[in-house]
Amino acid sequence: MRIILLGPQGAGKGTQAQRIADKVGAKHISTGDIVRAEIKSGSELGQKVQDYNDRGELVPDEIIVQMAKPYLDDADSWILDGFPRNEAQAKALDAALDELGEDLDAVVALEAPDEALVTRLSGRRQSQATGNIYHVEYDPPPEDGDDPGPFVQRKDDAEEAIRRRLEIYHEQTEPLKDYYAERGLLVVVDAEQEIPKVTEDILEAVGEDA
Ligand code: AMP
Repeated sequence: MRIILLGPQGAGKGTQAQRIADKVGAKHISTGDIVRAEIKSGSELGQKVQDYNDRGELVPDEIIVQMAKPYLDDADSWILDGFPRNEAQAKALDAALDELGEDLDAVVALEAPDEALVTRLSGRRQSQATGNIYHVEYDPPPEDGDDPGPFVQRKDDAEEAIRRRLEIYHEQTEPLKDYYAERGLLVVVDAEQEIPKVTEDILEAVGEDA
């Protein structure tokens, strides 16, 4: 199974990609996670991409394509989260798939209004101990020591960066819905629903039993 999860920041792509990947035994490939891991490693490449990440800007296409490609080559079955983000990347993905003789099965677009996304993102906190994601209001970190934290905000979840990321999404990423709809690959799912319901809708849309 080869699926792209499209959607704005805060729509729950990461959460859903992981749930679907666990359910169908595919690999969850998140270019945002790849970028953050590279930054954390302190490598030269990490230093190169850090500024883009922190400001909420896209990393240049050639760099992100190079970073993502080994992961695509490495697995037959995957859910792509955060890639492609514009038409140039979509074309690079087409070329990579052609080379491998593989096809896309579906492109799932998660949709939610901007106000809901800003609320979700600005309250988001990640545990440095476990990597688990919480929300200060809707899903607060446990106080019983189950997850010791500390619970930190991503640099690009600061308000200025959130606004920039949503702007880029609408300008550059959202047009990909048409790009894939023309090929009959697009399905749209309402991301404002409860997490299990979103998962169920995605599984149904890609022809898997929920
Ligand atoms: P995300 O967690 O998907 O929001 O990604 C975090 C950051 O990583 C983005 O704001 C970009 O700086 C970078 N990034 C992730 N995926 C891509 C991509 N496909 N193209 C360009 N930059 C990306």
